[in-house]
Amino acid sequence: MTAGLPDRISALQARIQRACEAAGRNPESVELLPVSKFQDIALVREAVALGFHRFGENYVQEGAARAKAAPDLDFLLIGPLQRNKARLALQTFREILTLDRPELAQRLGRIVAEEGWVRPVWIQVDLWDEATKAGGCPEAALDGLLDALGHHPALPLQGFMALPPPGLTAAFQQLATLRERYEQRLGTRLKLSMGMSGDLEAAIAAGSDQIRIGTDFFGSRT
Ligand SMILES: *Cc1c(COP(=O)(O)O)cnc(C)c1O
Repeated sequence: MTAGLPDRISALQARIQRACEAAGRNPESVELLPVSKFQDIALVREAVALGFHRFGENYVQEGAARAKAAPDLDFLLIGPLQRNKARLALQTFREILTLDRPELAQRLGRIVAEEGWVRPVWIQVDLWDEATKAGGCPEAALDGLLDALGHHPALPLQGFMALPPPGLTAAFQQLATLRERYEQRLGTRLKLSMGMSGDLEAAIAAGSDQIRIGTDFFGSRT
């Protein structure tokens, strides 16, 4: 009744291809990150057989169990991170996409220094005042967070991640502008992780480097 994983992935790749063509971009410049939260591990294994090995997970505990069962895969944290789960998160995840406050940056910095780990981080930004709901650093607090992060060699900054309110089409362009401003200020290249199942086309048009896809990749979550 439902399409299988290979069909869904082909359909997604066709969408990415078309969106890139329309935007004059190389499809290889957009990473398709499957979001495996609440999905059966068998389905994740099926995705691995189709060439994927990086997966986004929302919850630290669930991700930790998963990473233990599948140490050959790379899991990235795309959900909120509490201070008391920082060490487990750093142990579990290859990258943290939801750094959003100075205290967390300091805590992560101390742990990676102690352990000798290197973890690429992304700053989750919230330009729409949704901080209480989904986390994310408001624009006014961004400089303070960057100061706290410093140029920590073990927490290399990859760019900005965002979860804009659904349907707010101007959001992706706002994020692109923010990226440009901070690339100039920091003198470094920054990526954007934005776009999900329902809005990947608009995100790619605005310059997204990484789209995070759950539903349209794995099917609806159980
Ligand atoms: C669940 C989730 C996604 C994927 O959402 P879909 O609409 O299922 O593609 C992407 N990013 C974050 C942060 C999520 O929590």
